[in-house]
Amino acid sequence: MSQAFSNYVGRFAPSPSGPLHFGSLVAALGSYLQARSQQGKWLVRIEDIDPPREVAGVAEDILQTLQAYGLIWDDEVIYQSQQSEHYEQVLQTLKRQQLSYACSCTRKIIKQQGGLYLGACRHKAQSHQGNALRINVSKLSQPITHFFDQLQGQIKLDKQQANEDFIIKRKDGLYAYNLAVTIDDINQGISEIVRGADLLLTTGKQLSIYQLLEQKPPTYVHLPLAITKPGVKLSKQNHALAIDKKNPVPTLLKALDFLGHQVPDSVNKKDCNTILSWAIQHWQLKNVPKETEILVAIE
Ligand code: GLU
Repeated sequence: MSQAFSNYVGRFAPSPSGPLHFGSLVAALGSYLQARSQQGKWLVRIEDIDPPREVAGVAEDILQTLQAYGLIWDDEVIYQSQQSEHYEQVLQTLKRQQLSYACSCTRKIIKQQGGLYLGACRHKAQSHQGNALRINVSKLSQPITHFFDQLQGQIKLDKQQANEDFIIKRKDGLYAYNLAVTIDDINQGISEIVRGADLLLTTGKQLSIYQLLEQKPPTYVHLPLAITKPGVKLSKQNHALAIDKKNPVPTLLKALDFLGHQVPDSVNKKDCNTILSWAIQHWQLKNVPKETEILVAIE
């Protein structure tokens, strides 16, 4: 018998640049519990659009780790490296409607101009070949200056950044994260995005794409980030330790605790599935700390 789901569709979207560490487990777990506590679907998407940053075998390892922690997804895993056709279709639409344009400015030039791209190529007729593609934010009927986050509240965005025409396809031909993530979230019918607060400020750009494509945006929850010192997040880049696949319970309990949910003694000696069932029943977003960063000790 197939399971009956509500209309809620959530997702976890790791980049395979390193194995899952405590910070990414928190994002996976938070998005899982937000979905499951609302009888929603929970999808996993591997964001492998940046080959130079990828490590062979890591995508598979991430999936095995999720399984070891009892975080079992619905439907098939989607790989961004296989979605180019969808991205190209949207790029064509944006081009046809003159919502994007080719830009030949180098990073160096933009840096010399103060670091913010001021739309120098907006009115130049340049080939898309060999140039970056940018979104023309001046075409937005309502520039995205703020948005509401279900956990962090009203988020005000920097006005200059909100007005910057950002890159959707890089000069080297790679699709930009903001483009790929938005198209995939639309195509997969994601109703709420739960992820780390390091991505809080990219949301404005993604909301601009939703508006230009006339799509209803999802709701957002940006969870606190695990940091080792102020401003330094636990990340694959700073060699955060891969979490233990063989003995997952202690780390799962630590991640739940980080998210404001203390598992009672009657449950905390049990297996991941029992702990997760308890967590699904007791999950309350209002118990998750509203900070964007929380210090953790790494063993
Ligand atoms: N792939 C991104 C990362 O691993 C997350 C994207 C998202 O959740 O929007 O940082």
